[in-house]
Amino acid sequence: MKLKSAALALIAGVTLSLSAHAQQDSLMMRKIFDEALVNGKCYDNLRYLCKQIGPRLSGSAGAQKAVAWSKKLMDSYGFDRVYLQEVMVPHWVRGEKEQGKIIVGKTEVPVALAALGGSVATPKTGITAEVIELHSLQELQSLGEDKIKGKIVFFNRPFDERFIEAGEAYGTAGDQRNAGPAAAAKYGAVAVIVRSLTSALDNYPHTGGTNYGTSPKIPAAAISTIAANKLSDLLKQNGKVKFFLKDNCQTLPNVLSYNVIGEIKGSANNNKYITVGGHLDSWDLAEGAHDDGTGVMQSVEVLRIFKTLGYKPKNNIRAVFFMNEENGHKGGLKYAEQALKDKEEHIAAIETDEGGFTPRGFSFEGANAAFLKGINQQWKKLFEPYEADRLVAGGSGTDIGPLRDSFPGINLIGFRPDSQRYFDIHHTPNDVFENVNKRELELGAATITSLIYLIDQHGLNF
Ligand SMILES: [Zn+2]
Repeated sequence: MKLKSAALALIAGVTLSLSAHAQQDSLMMRKIFDEALVNGKCYDNLRYLCKQIGPRLSGSAGAQKAVAWSKKLMDSYGFDRVYLQEVMVPHWVRGEKEQGKIIVGKTEVPVALAALGGSVATPKTGITAEVIELHSLQELQSLGEDKIKGKIVFFNRPFDERFIEAGEAYGTAGDQRNAGPAAAAKYGAVAVIVRSLTSALDNYPHTGGTNYGTSPKIPAAAISTIAANKLSDLLKQNGKVKFFLKDNCQTLPNVLSYNVIGEIKGSANNNKYITVGGHLDSWDLAEGAHDDGTGVMQSVEVLRIFKTLGYKPKNNIRAVFFMNEENGHKGGLKYAEQALKDKEEHIAAIETDEGGFTPRGFSFEGANAAFLKGINQQWKKLFEPYEADRLVAGGSGTDIGPLRDSFPGINLIGFRPDSQRYFDIHHTPNDVFENVNKRELELGAATITSLIYLIDQHGLNF
């Protein structure tokens, strides 16, 4: 009897302390959201980055300017430590605007297109060749060199619209852009054009990196979805259609650039780190607003909110503006390499690089059933009032990915905003500040700050 009541008291005690914890957490999250929504700075910061600096592809003057301004911004917030981390990055330039035309007999139809990042140039006079339309890389093998050699391969597999998460459609269509040019070159293709990776039917070409690996390098460009449909229709009607492509890209020598890092020291004077980051570089066609200006501005907002609220974290909290996510991943690699060298202990990293849209929750890399059950039991209800309570298994991010090998046991986490509109503007000239909503951006910043607060307080031992 005595034993039983002691056990009951113990359980009651635990329950009480848990709910007291939860109550404290819930109050702190309310403060975080209030600060982000009432006094938030990320929207104004994003406006500066987009409008005063603009495009910032690795190695460009815009990227250098963005580094200097970001450091100044972090300095102005008075974080415990602000520094630049040197990283050598590739320097690819688009050159003079590309030209593309569909040619049917004597008729020429100009199309909206953009060279893929890393593409080589065509000869000065351009390339004109017959087009062959494919829907997968596997088709190259079944058609063979006979059918491919001397032609321009046109990869035209659209997004699979059955996916609910737009990122999954992007992922499964992406091989055409990432690996298509290299694969087609091996069969003797003279150039590749790719349907833009989007569900939207419009006239924006979506650029993005392509990897040649060890294959011969042939010019590669994305064409808008309207142009892709037009080309496909003309091929069906006429059988034989030619395409003219002229681009002027160049890869220059590597350039010294930087990750920009701000840090709030942990109160326990320990060696443990929680990283939050996005990438500072962007494609050259626009302002890199959603990709990934929103991510870096949310990351620095996390530290600003903590500092403003006077929150003293247990662990060291770092905001990292990674350089070179788009065409080389050098910033992410460097960060992980240096962290290992410095014998830091990294317990969690969160990446925000899926647009500054309405937050839905987070995905946890490699999360098993027990982890998901635990985290949902304890934390889901805290996020429910903010409608950002999806805590699921899934990917994290390209920049924090290299921490995986350096720190076994680290929790890699992806911020998951609503995904439906991201690929309308992703890597297009339309990725501009005007397409970011202030409230959505701030809600995202508060959601990320809240998760980092919870991890800092309780760890992720589910
Ligand atoms: Zn990105």
